[in-house]
Amino acid sequence: MKNLSIRVKITAWFSGIMAFIVAVTFAVIFWVSNSVTQKNIQDSLIEIVESNVDEIEFYEEKNYQTELHGDQYIEYLDGYLEIDDDFLDQVNGIYSSLYQETGKLLYGENPSVRADLELPFSDGRVQKIRWDRDAYYVYDRLLSGYGVDGLWLRGMVSQVQGTQQLQWLVRLSLIALPSLFVLAVIGGYWIAGRALNPVYKITQAAAQIGQGQDLNKRIHLGSGTDELHQLADVLDSMISRLDKAFKAERQFTSDASHELRTPMSVIMAQCEYILEDRRTPKEYEEALEVIQRQGRKMSKLIEDMLCFARLEQNQESYPKETVDFSALVQDICEDMALLRDKNIELDREIEPDIFLPGNAMLLTRMVTNLISNGYRYGKQDGRISVRLKCEGSILLSVEDNGTGIPDEQQEKIFGRFYRGDSARFSEGTGLGLAMVKDIAKYHGGTVKVASAVGEGSRFTVKFPA
Ligand code: ADP
Repeated sequence: MKNLSIRVKITAWFSGIMAFIVAVTFAVIFWVSNSVTQKNIQDSLIEIVESNVDEIEFYEEKNYQTELHGDQYIEYLDGYLEIDDDFLDQVNGIYSSLYQETGKLLYGENPSVRADLELPFSDGRVQKIRWDRDAYYVYDRLLSGYGVDGLWLRGMVSQVQGTQQLQWLVRLSLIALPSLFVLAVIGGYWIAGRALNPVYKITQAAAQIGQGQDLNKRIHLGSGTDELHQLADVLDSMISRLDKAFKAERQFTSDASHELRTPMSVIMAQCEYILEDRRTPKEYEEALEVIQRQGRKMSKLIEDMLCFARLEQNQESYPKETVDFSALVQDICEDMALLRDKNIELDREIEPDIFLPGNAMLLTRMVTNLISNGYRYGKQDGRISVRLKCEGSILLSVEDNGTGIPDEQQEKIFGRFYRGDSARFSEGTGLGLAMVKDIAKYHGGTVKVASAVGEGSRFTVKFPA
């Protein structure tokens, strides 16, 4: 059963149940019809026998004339019995006959004399007797009245008489049952095939995607709202998301290797230059400084990329605990205010005792990245304002009065390795804001930017309180 296809299983179940229902229905119809027919036969038997009771009379005379009325005359005791011409001796397979108490047949005929004799008389009761692979209903009436006392009137009818009427029903069911069953099997198999067609399409599309690794393929079941169409739509959007994610991943890998290649080439070039000839200590020192700077850049890049990978892969790398976010931001501001890069002033307005379930290391990185950008893209003698408050949600904003970001770049700056016009002459990897965005997301938050070229930028991170 396990190895059978769903289509065959559905067809088998459907046909089985169908056959069962049809068989039970026919059995019930047959049983009810048979019962009704048998009851009718018995009623007719009683009715005919009862109507014949009055058609028998006894006369004490010896002489009778058969020709006169069409009545029947039977010599009996000292006179004769007159059987009226209304006496129904054989009608609709029901035989009526007249007996003496001894069992001697006086008038009429009987389908089975032997069967008849075996059954004792019983007044006013339908009896059933089996004889010669047939069954008969027998109804007896003891006559009473002048001269007829002790005579028995017996009616008899074959049960087959009734069942013959049912033969057509049996024959019909014997033809209809197998035909219906075959129809049910064919119809069920066809319907199951049609219903499961989308599943085949889904399987085919999934196999094609699997074999060719081609995430551009879609199932495209077409219009429809049933469960399988819903499944296909969900799978299509899942494949689209996977496609997008894989493309982003590929882009990231290619960007990362490109970014790593540049400092690596600088390091290699410096090494070759130094080793080419004898150099002065000053030249060695300068070359080592370049190598160290490029090394740091590479190490920062690798660290950032690892951080992204961990953020995406699992939560365990960065466990969360309750962080005193106010204290964390305060400490970072105090440390960074000492930089005094470009003589920039760092002022802060930090609401105390704001706590956040999060990872202190990641949050530190996020705040540091934002403030560093403030310095990097700030103007000489400029200003950076850091604000932290809790108003329904936790809001951290880092504002500067630096270069600002053109409108069309404001969406893109959160992408990995994206670097804007303002970054042309500054150091950086293009990963800082992407990291800010991912860290905010990791803590259930969002990040937004508002900026105007030449006036400055404000980055706002929002966490649920
Ligand atoms: P980068 O290493 O280049 O700073 P980021 O991801 O931190 O990378 O920033 C992406 C780009 O966004 C930067 O190259 C820069 O053009 C722009 N940017 C980020 N912060 C600021 C800011 N405070 N003022 C102006 N431009 C900014």
